[in-house]
Amino acid sequence: MNREASPAVRPSRNATADVVIVGAGIVGAACAAELAAHGLRVEVVDARGIGGGATAAGMGHLVVMNDSPAEFALSRYSRDLWLELAPQLRSRDAFSRCGTLWVAADDEELDAARAMHAALATQGIEGQLLDVASLRAAEPALAASMAGGLRIEHDAIVYAPTVAQWLLETSPAAARIGLRLGREVARVDAHRVMLTNGEHLDAAHVIVANGIGARALLPALPIEPKKGHLLITDRYPGLIRHQLLELGYIKSAHHATGTSVAFNAQPRPTGQLLIGSSRQFDTTDPAVEMPVLAQMLARAARYLPALPTLNGIRAWTGFRAATPDGLPLIGPAGEFAPGVWLAAGHEGLGVTTSLATAKLLAAQIVGTRAAIPVDPYWPARFFERAGNVGDANDVRGSDASNGASCTPGAPATAGTLATPGAHSKDA
Ligand SMILES: Cc1cc2nc3c(=O)[nH]c(=O)nc-3n(C[C@H](O)[C@H](O)[C@H](O)COP(=O)(O)OP(=O)(O)OC[C@H]3O[C@@H](n4cnc5c(N)ncnc54)[C@H](O)[C@@H]3O)c2cc1C
Repeated sequence: MNREASPAVRPSRNATADVVIVGAGIVGAACAAELAAHGLRVEVVDARGIGGGATAAGMGHLVVMNDSPAEFALSRYSRDLWLELAPQLRSRDAFSRCGTLWVAADDEELDAARAMHAALATQGIEGQLLDVASLRAAEPALAASMAGGLRIEHDAIVYAPTVAQWLLETSPAAARIGLRLGREVARVDAHRVMLTNGEHLDAAHVIVANGIGARALLPALPIEPKKGHLLITDRYPGLIRHQLLELGYIKSAHHATGTSVAFNAQPRPTGQLLIGSSRQFDTTDPAVEMPVLAQMLARAARYLPALPTLNGIRAWTGFRAATPDGLPLIGPAGEFAPGVWLAAGHEGLGVTTSLATAKLLAAQIVGTRAAIPVDPYWPARFFERAGNVGDANDVRGSDASNGASCTPGAPATAGTLATPGAHSKDA
């Protein structure tokens, strides 16, 4: 790892830092910690506080998803980074390796579970198919009518806002991270961030990592808000043991229009149940909508019949930053903002994929090799003139030669797409 910033990433003498990051959510925090670990001085600006956006609203389920090869590669890499990080986290970060249990409501969904099991097994992801009896033994609170399920052992949960704070203030290189909270960014360019209070911060690199707020800074970005509702109950320790998801979640998660709900329940380490989730487009109103909440809870009660007897103590909403292909924007902003770097558009998987996002972006900035191909996440896939950076859903195998972006020691600028090179597993 490159511990010292190479001269090419050092900004001018008047610069505030080597890197300025807009956004102190889990993505911005992970990028800051990673770049600081590479020896760079990082300044993070947030209009509110640490982890106050989607990071505070989300569920914090760390899950390998397999909707596309690119989603699988990023979520698997990142979930494994979380498992490595976990021993350093504190009890308040609420990390728990509870596993995911995908619940099949009928035989058709059980077939889908079998197919998912087989597909994941070929990629080395451990899982167990559960028949009716073993599902009942694993999760007695589930409705007796459920047909079975698929348990993915190493998935986990975490409380992302405190992890964002740990990454920024306590992680090994945190001394190289400066924080400017309560400062709103008005504009960005390749080497400068302008604040609404008239101040400006200069740096060799500017990273836009402000979630749904990225649309306000760079209106051409292909990011739409996807509203979600969650509800948390009182404490019922042991009622459920795994993060439970209906298999239909896979169908509804990437709906591009309308309102959809899916059963999703998480056992918090406190004994509380976190219940989700809904997905809505075409709204930026943060209000809890009773009809949507009712629809979501009715769905959950089909899976957990005891749910209507539990006390719900708070419901809230948040906005996922969704891209048209469901993959984040990680890399040079190019036509969207020449010279600027992007780490945004993580939709409903940004807690899971934050650590890998930071690794991939840092590799491109400092010129090291990334562990997985970086091009499926390049914003360039949405450029008007695009067409030469590969299919967003095409992650080539680990021996392919399009993984890392830059020649070590020759850091990229965000205005140019990186030179393809071999990637390695041990970046
Ligand atoms: C209901 C719901 C459930 C979810 N469940 C999960 C889950 O189980 N697992 C999972 O992996 N993901 C989940 N997600 C997604 C996940 O929460 C997000 O993808 C992730 O938190 C995005 O992090 P971020 O840092 O990109 O953005 P944010 O957390 O939104 O952070 C952006 C930050 O930028 C700041 N900001 C914005 N504009 C400006 C500006 N102009 N100037 C300065 N600062 C600015 C904001 O104040 C904010 O702090 C869920 C999301 C929702 C809404």
